[in-house]
Amino acid sequence: MTSPTDTVLSDLDTDRAHRIYRHLHAHPELSMQEHATADLVAAELEELGIGHFRCGGTGVVGVIRNGDGPVVAFRADTDGLPIAEDTGLEYASTATGTLEDGTVVPVMHGCGHDTHVTSLLSAARALTSHPDTWSGTLVLVFQPGEEVAAGARAMVDDGLWERAPLPEVVLGQHVMPLRSGTVDISHGVAMAMADALRVTVYGKQSHGSRPQSSIDPIVLGAHVIARLQTIVSRELDPRTPAVVTSGTFHAGLKENIIPDRAEFTLNIRTFEPEVRERVLAAVRRIVSGEAAVSGAPEPLVEEIYSFPRCHNDPVQAARVESALRDGLGEGNVSVAEPVMGSEDFGLLGEAVGVPSVFWMFGGSTSHRARRPRSTTPRTSRPPWDRRWRPARAPPSPRSWPTSAPTHGADRPAPTPDTTKAGPVGPAFVLCRGGGI
Ligand SMILES: [Zn+2]
Repeated sequence: MTSPTDTVLSDLDTDRAHRIYRHLHAHPELSMQEHATADLVAAELEELGIGHFRCGGTGVVGVIRNGDGPVVAFRADTDGLPIAEDTGLEYASTATGTLEDGTVVPVMHGCGHDTHVTSLLSAARALTSHPDTWSGTLVLVFQPGEEVAAGARAMVDDGLWERAPLPEVVLGQHVMPLRSGTVDISHGVAMAMADALRVTVYGKQSHGSRPQSSIDPIVLGAHVIARLQTIVSRELDPRTPAVVTSGTFHAGLKENIIPDRAEFTLNIRTFEPEVRERVLAAVRRIVSGEAAVSGAPEPLVEEIYSFPRCHNDPVQAARVESALRDGLGEGNVSVAEPVMGSEDFGLLGEAVGVPSVFWMFGGSTSHRARRPRSTTPRTSRPPWDRRWRPARAPPSPRSWPTSAPTHGADRPAPTPDTTKAGPVGPAFVLCRGGGI
């Protein structure tokens, strides 16, 4: 007997998914500037007859109502990163974007969010094509600005859950360099909270030959950086994971001038709220204390961003894990330890007290990918792609995807090579796990 999942996947339009993916990959946009991506998403939803609205600036929300049943939200993030792509792929990005400070930068989908958008659009197409195989309401959340921890907050503040049906659970996923066709899922904590701080320590400028007239902010900053490393090694229980990293340090313009200030940034990762509070308090204590010891003015500590907790509800995570095992096969789903990467996904559910589940799916061909049961392509033209022409033949189902040498910020993701794209693509991964 054919299962509902097999029916949904029986005519999965992988050809269209590949075209959407390649278009998105070639046209990435910076966080909170995903205008063309939002237009593409809206056009796809429109064509499918799915009601939708804009939310949180460049966010898009679609709602598929299909009779009685649970309300489930599924989120895909949409933004790229300020990275120059050097993969050499035919569809490599040459896009640029402008940061808030006016800097023009290259942009790349280096974290795989193009895969996420394609997955959710493919799921929407597959599920609307087979309404007889499921019932309930699916809320499709295309969220901007994940990389800067702004998009989930923007959507919630823009009335996401007043405008869309309140879900029983929020689901999300991220592509990772795991074997294609496999999934890692955590129970409980899934990803770390992350806090980024900018610290400015002040000194007193002087000529380098007269250090007695200075308060040296570089020496002060160096002491702060060194002592910050004692937070994890000397203030936390050795069994408690935490990270304190200083990623930048800038001071001075000339070797013989002691400058009047130094600026550095910190990245802090923790799993538990109380540990987070303890580490942040320790950072502020050490920064302030070292300044006092140096006879320097009080430093300035500014928050750059704060990623919330990404916590998998154990009951819902068990349901999702079971569905994934049914769809992907017992050996292709692993219960994983939490990762130190971060996401603002958790905020979507936490904002309204709704449980959420987030998992990692494989997008690498370092191992041979499993083939799906159906590879039937269709040849309808995506409404946003004027250059599209029907393919002469379906893509060869050899391998999907390959790893790319360029990775995203803290969550390295593969860049699929859809010139070799077979059916084991993002839509497949999503739908195989879509027992919702
Ligand atoms: Zn990402």
